[in-house]
Amino acid sequence: MLIGPQNWTGNLEKVRTGLAAAALACGRSVDSVTLLGVSKGHPAPAVEALAAAGLRHFGENYAQEALPKLGQLAHLSLTWHFIGRLQSNKTRAIAEHFAWVHTVDRVKLAERLSAQRPFHSPAINVCLQVDVGGDPARGGAAAQELPALAAAVAQMPRLRLRGLMCLPPQESDPDRQRHWFRAVRLAFDSLRAQGHELDTLSMGMSDDYAAAIAEGATMVRIGTALFGPRG
Ligand SMILES: *Cc1c(COP(=O)(O)O)cnc(C)c1O
Repeated sequence: MLIGPQNWTGNLEKVRTGLAAAALACGRSVDSVTLLGVSKGHPAPAVEALAAAGLRHFGENYAQEALPKLGQLAHLSLTWHFIGRLQSNKTRAIAEHFAWVHTVDRVKLAERLSAQRPFHSPAINVCLQVDVGGDPARGGAAAQELPALAAAVAQMPRLRLRGLMCLPPQESDPDRQRHWFRAVRLAFDSLRAQGHELDTLSMGMSDDYAAAIAEGATMVRIGTALFGPRG
């Protein structure tokens, strides 16, 4: 796949076509999948070009990199998602500037985000990150910890529990990709069966979004295929 770093709107067209094909292949509607552009490592003008082409949701991994970028783009009405590892000393900045956080994996971090969310802002939309593959560097809660974590987050006044997120090991075989996504989908179904009104499965990136959509992803996080390689 050739990805033009300066041809952002052309890249967006290709990704939209790919998402539609993946949805069609498993009998889902294109509208059931939200595209999140992952702009880490790329400057504000790249985001601006994609926003002009109609993209509304963007994700960032590092508070330090994101805050100036969000400031430069404040004139656009974009929805910002924090998708990086959460560190205690960064939760305040994240609670102040992001509409969504996809990487909550501990009660303590959730408590900080809820306590630090400004009163004038709506509740933060939260996905719990599920550990699949067991790589501690990637973070995430173990599947058996999810019921207690979900119950705790659901009680926090300034958080709104929306669903689950995962960052599985890189696999090139689509069946192996689906294996990880299916495990998260089952955890999602089981939380819903326990009464949580979840609507978001954040899974799938540039190289595995088709497998994620086949397993029920409602939000795919795409960086490279939209923005080109990161510098
Ligand atoms: C960087 C990143 C992405 C985007 O990955 P690509 O392979 O560039 O599409 C998605 N999700 C998370 C959590 C990331 O850190």
